[in-house]
Amino acid sequence: MLKVYKCSKSPTIKVDSHSIQPLLESSVMTSYFSRAAWILLLVLCQPWSIRAFSGLIFQFYPYHTHRLTTGSVNSVMKDTKVSLTSSSSERIDSGTAEEKSSPIKLKYDLVVIGGGSAGLTAAKFATSFGKTSVIIEEAKLGGDCTWSGCVPSKTLLSCAKAAYTVKKASQYGLELNGSKDAKIKVDMKAIHDKIQRTIQTIYEEEDSAEVLSSKGVDTIQGRASFISNNTLSINLIPTEDLSTTVAADGLAKGKAEILVEAKAGIVICTGATAFVPPVDGLIDSGVDWATYETIFSKLGKLPNNRSPPRLTIIGGGPIGCELAQAFSRFGSNVTLVTPSLLLNDAVEPEAREALQRVFQEQDNIKIVTGRVQKVRQELDGLGKSVGAHCITVSSKNGAPETCIEVRGDLLLVATGRKPNVKKLYDEGGLKEIGVELNDNYNGIKVDDKLCTTVRNIYAAGDCTGDKQL
Ligand SMILES: Cc1cc2nc3c(=O)[nH]c(=O)nc-3n(C[C@H](O)[C@H](O)[C@H](O)COP(=O)(O)OP(=O)(O)OC[C@H]3O[C@@H](n4cnc5c(N)ncnc54)[C@H](O)[C@@H]3O)c2cc1C
Repeated sequence: MLKVYKCSKSPTIKVDSHSIQPLLESSVMTSYFSRAAWILLLVLCQPWSIRAFSGLIFQFYPYHTHRLTTGSVNSVMKDTKVSLTSSSSERIDSGTAEEKSSPIKLKYDLVVIGGGSAGLTAAKFATSFGKTSVIIEEAKLGGDCTWSGCVPSKTLLSCAKAAYTVKKASQYGLELNGSKDAKIKVDMKAIHDKIQRTIQTIYEEEDSAEVLSSKGVDTIQGRASFISNNTLSINLIPTEDLSTTVAADGLAKGKAEILVEAKAGIVICTGATAFVPPVDGLIDSGVDWATYETIFSKLGKLPNNRSPPRLTIIGGGPIGCELAQAFSRFGSNVTLVTPSLLLNDAVEPEAREALQRVFQEQDNIKIVTGRVQKVRQELDGLGKSVGAHCITVSSKNGAPETCIEVRGDLLLVATGRKPNVKKLYDEGGLKEIGVELNDNYNGIKVDDKLCTTVRNIYAAGDCTGDKQL
């Protein structure tokens, strides 16, 4: 499955995704929460990841066996109790009075910006090769996958599957309370709590600063910006926990900045955020709407703890389709508005047709083909909001173009994701050091080994603008 070979520059690893794929299907699908394997294999099977490791590994292949062990920051994440005594980093500032007023300076073989799936994998990979690594994370270790992506969405889907199976119990020869026609009551608050527990478990077992520390990966909570092609300035996020932790080390009291130098390379893994299209009225009409970033926490606050009676989803990509099926199985009337085919062009027509059939025949999901033009609140006769929305969709299916209105109680915007690069590029020094972006800020430009346009700086994961879910 893994072959080590020597490329023109240095040794590297080739990952055979065909060998990994069956593993994914057998072990990962059946044992969802064996997350270590899951994350690693999912990540390894992504085209970007395969390239990431073939590009990165040459830096960490163990012909440098020396491991730095001078004491320094081990973890500066706000949610950790890990002490700052043992560390894999190298302090490069000394203790003179003058230097004490300057920022803390640390040195690692690999410096990773962003602690999501890509960043976690890169940092762990480096330490498994005996190299030192640190992750700079400005929000929560685990990134989208743990907090608002794969983990909550798959947990939601597993709850929806259970609801569906119970409803169809009679097809399995089962009766519930003596009835073949099972009526289930869905408690969205309980589903919300289950999702949050699952997220917490995954976080504590796989992503937390403590776990990373036990694998030799250091973590710093802060926002990274480039001051040269091998040094980052980290603005520490000023939280109480953080200042206590940093002060406890006696190194950074009153300091807001750390300088981190990379000896071998920097990997940018800043991920992506929800793309919200500029639809008239969406932001400012007062309509209740969500994206994947907010929907999972909203589940705990739905009226009467029930699934919304009518859910409108804008976007027929993977996220829109997943959530459409889940909510319809909880009892919502779901309308999915999509300008194009379900999923996207990369999906085989047979798969798309099967999905469309299941949506329409089993899940009762209404699919409307067209583009959303306008979003507004639904008003009563006195012009008062009734807590619902009405969206206008224009469709070119027929000639001439027609407009229809779709009404619902909750609006979910699932119109894709955009790479998280603008801030780092415009304000974080990326432009100044010569790292180029794709057109329209659509990700960091990389070659097939995930090298950026600057030597020893790499980018991996969603921030490269590669195909997003
Ligand atoms: C609803 C949904 C379901 C999904 N389901 C699946 C699935 O089933 N299977 C699958 O393979 N994928 C799935 N995905 C996609 C998967 O979640 C992403 O591909 C993955 O999370 C990308 O990882 P990443 O490391 O590139 O970015 P992220 O996970 O987004 O991590 C980026 C991190 O960088 C941090 N950051 C950004 N800028 C800075 C900075 N300047 N300084 C410091 N830190 C910074 C962010 O805070 C963030 O934590 C799903 C996504 C969604 C939204």
